[in-house]
Amino acid sequence: MDQNIIENLRARSVPAFQHMIDGCHVPASDGQTLDVISPIDGRVLTTVARGTAADMTAAIAAARAAFEDGRWAAQAPAARKRILMRWADLIEANAPELAVLGVRDNGTEISMALKAEPVSAAATIRYYAEALDKVYGEIAPTASDVLGMIHKEPVGVVGAIVPWNFPMMIGAWKLAPALAMGNSVVLKPAETASLSLMRMVDLAHEAGLPPGVLNAVTGEGAVVGEAMGLSMDVDVLVFTGSGGTGRRLMGYAARSNLKRVYLELGGKSPNIVFADAPDLVQAAKVAASGIFRNAGQVCVAGSRLLVEASIHDDFVAEVAKAAQGMRVGDPLALDTNIGAINSQTQLDANLRFVATAQAEGGEIVTGGDRVLAETGGYYMAPTIVTGVTRDATLTQKEVFGPVLGVTPFETETEAIQLANATNYGLAGGVWTSNLGRAHRMIRAVRTGVMHVNTYGGADGTVPLGGVGQSGNGSDKSLHAIDKYINLKTAWIKL
Ligand code: NAD
Repeated sequence: MDQNIIENLRARSVPAFQHMIDGCHVPASDGQTLDVISPIDGRVLTTVARGTAADMTAAIAAARAAFEDGRWAAQAPAARKRILMRWADLIEANAPELAVLGVRDNGTEISMALKAEPVSAAATIRYYAEALDKVYGEIAPTASDVLGMIHKEPVGVVGAIVPWNFPMMIGAWKLAPALAMGNSVVLKPAETASLSLMRMVDLAHEAGLPPGVLNAVTGEGAVVGEAMGLSMDVDVLVFTGSGGTGRRLMGYAARSNLKRVYLELGGKSPNIVFADAPDLVQAAKVAASGIFRNAGQVCVAGSRLLVEASIHDDFVAEVAKAAQGMRVGDPLALDTNIGAINSQTQLDANLRFVATAQAEGGEIVTGGDRVLAETGGYYMAPTIVTGVTRDATLTQKEVFGPVLGVTPFETETEAIQLANATNYGLAGGVWTSNLGRAHRMIRAVRTGVMHVNTYGGADGTVPLGGVGQSGNGSDKSLHAIDKYINLKTAWIKL
């Protein structure tokens, strides 16, 4: 896409957004709205409906009614597939508009958003649309006087709560398999990144999705998210976001109908570089992009760099060089490598983490500051901190910003101990030419995803999910389908 197209889209005014309930755009029940602040310049971009608990209840009721009358679940699989395919086509046809709208809302650099947002969402929807008529039931190997059948049924109403870093991509990871399996859905986008996802919901209706099957309520997590969590009529809750909210959701389930809760939470992922890595310069570049793209607001970001002590200083210098070569700035400029921090709150939190790291003895090699404050937007220089110990805050707590902590190690055993020294377990990476060591590290590091001689970029064919306090269940791949079905046994006397 060329810059002129982006500038034309940037110049468009953004209308106020309302909920989508039962196929209609509706305002909040009390008429209230929330300002949407663009992280590009700190100005108000538009408003979204500030949902109430009553709005959430209405959306869940619409989803339940749609599920019960079979307007979607009872359609032939081929018909559901056609509609989902059309939805993916519409998303792709509107990709520039969706990507620019999303960037104005959440601040991701456009070069990344173009690949990771609408295009990836469309691919995910196609993947599950293609899969939906290939999910078979089973016949159990029983004695000959009975027949044991295992049916795979939709669960009913799925509640999906998503974060702000990649709203369309992460939204599609949940909406596509849920809808493909015949469920109805209520979506709750993040306060600071609703717009592109709400447009995507509109496009589903344009594609022919019946009203009530996909509903979306905007507003505050503590209000509408809580109402969804406490609902007696949501069967499965799927969530991506922070551990704190994940804990609350499990509490809501316990206090209501024991709904199944699947959590994709944060990480503190170790990127482990041995001196025998095949190409240390390349490893340094990838280590930098693996933490700094989208300003570090990536769940699998390689935020802990563990480096073999013998190459520590040279390698850190290479990573710093790569970081300094990354252009921080206007997320809508095609040559920007690191866009805006999503909100003032998040920027302030990042800067507090840097101050804490220094107070704990960490040394800043590059970055550490807010930049481009004169734009009114929220920007931060890519930041590298060395001397980060095993118990330091930068080892133990997720920043979710452009901050890389570096820790040296002497042996493979020490690298494994450091890698596993947190409560998280989302992703990791190892750089080595030694095949045996690569496999040992894959087995030993407690994560959901382990990269070897690369970092990031795993596609939709493989699962993404955490262990430990990074969550349970996984998005992506055929495995994700299990979250959206119930197994029902039919036991028949012959
Ligand atoms: P967050 O938990 O603050 O918010 C996520 C969503 O939960 C938002 O839609 C928010 O409105 C909603 N929410 C907030 N409070 C709620 C409540 N009380 N009840 C119900 N819903 C509520 O997280 P965030 O700051 O938006 O996202 C960043 C976090 O997400 C990071 O920790 C990051 O690592 C994680 N993340 C994980 C993955 C993954 O796949 N594992 C992917 C992306 C982001």
